[in-house]
Amino acid sequence: MASYTKRIYVGNVPIGKGAPISVQTMIKVKTTNIDAVLNQIKEVVEVGCDIIRISIPDKDSLKALKKIKNKSPIPIIADIHFDYRLAIKAILSGADCIRINPGNIGSKERIVKIAKAAKKANIPIRVGVNAGSIKEEILNKCKGSIVDSLVKSALETVKVLEEYDFYQIKISAKASNVIETVLAYRKLSKYTDYPLHLGVTESGPQEPGIVKSSIAVGSLLLDDIGDTIRISLTASPVKEIIVGRNILKSLGLLKEGIEIISCPICARCDIDLLKLVKEFEEKTKNIKKYLKVAIMGCVVNGPGEAKQADIGIAAGKGGGVLFKKGEIIKKLPEEDLLDSLMFEIEKF
Ligand code: SF4
Repeated sequence: MASYTKRIYVGNVPIGKGAPISVQTMIKVKTTNIDAVLNQIKEVVEVGCDIIRISIPDKDSLKALKKIKNKSPIPIIADIHFDYRLAIKAILSGADCIRINPGNIGSKERIVKIAKAAKKANIPIRVGVNAGSIKEEILNKCKGSIVDSLVKSALETVKVLEEYDFYQIKISAKASNVIETVLAYRKLSKYTDYPLHLGVTESGPQEPGIVKSSIAVGSLLLDDIGDTIRISLTASPVKEIIVGRNILKSLGLLKEGIEIISCPICARCDIDLLKLVKEFEEKTKNIKKYLKVAIMGCVVNGPGEAKQADIGIAAGKGGGVLFKKGEIIKKLPEEDLLDSLMFEIEKF
């Protein structure tokens, strides 16, 4: 939650100047399939999504956007490529923010027309640069450097908006490569105080994508860079939100829900800890209060190794113990471990 950036609002969600880092994702069904879109919005809101982005590739999507906007519980960003007229119409259809890609939105005049409409509607614009769509002339000027080209492309578009006295801006500069992404954002943060939207674009399938995104987004957030995040995975948007929120939780930037401390399992473990942890995750996924809960595989190292937990259980042969802040408070048979833990959590 960078404190040095400017504050903008996407709908009612504050971004920048110390606001909590918001987590966003994108709808992955056709925009024209309104019911499916609303269903996906409902699913991501349930796991903590703050803002949703929707592609507007054509006129039919514009009509759908209007209806979706009326029913969405969270602000909507309209994602526009190529056609500036769609951006203007999306603004008129009620979008809370517009994302444009400087690599394909066209001339300065077109960007100014979008800014004019956004200014009238009092909504922000995301200048969203992607490594794969940087203009050839910028790449040439930057001697092929992706990092420099991402930064130059973003800042040139920001300058066009500022010339028109438009300042409700956020910026992204994404590559599919972790190092290029990190270097681009680090450089960008030296040249601008507009809020930054972090993410690795096209980061790949779930497992490698989570690793790439966590390294890039996590490193930047540790550097106090970034105001809102989107994890891009070839996976469900629900997964993207869960991963995004887990990154924030790991960095202490989001204190909400149950943080599970569980051991990696070794030969000392006498129960099916994997199953126990999965059951616990399922049972607690909707709990909002922040608690650190340990689930450890043995009584020998369990309570001691999980001292930082508010409460926890450590399994043993046919049973285990319940402990608070590392102190054992109760011995329990195996079948009562989870229920007793849940009972104690409710009391917090
Ligand atoms: Fe092994 Fe016990 Fe440590 Fe789990 S807590 S890894 S079972 S020693």
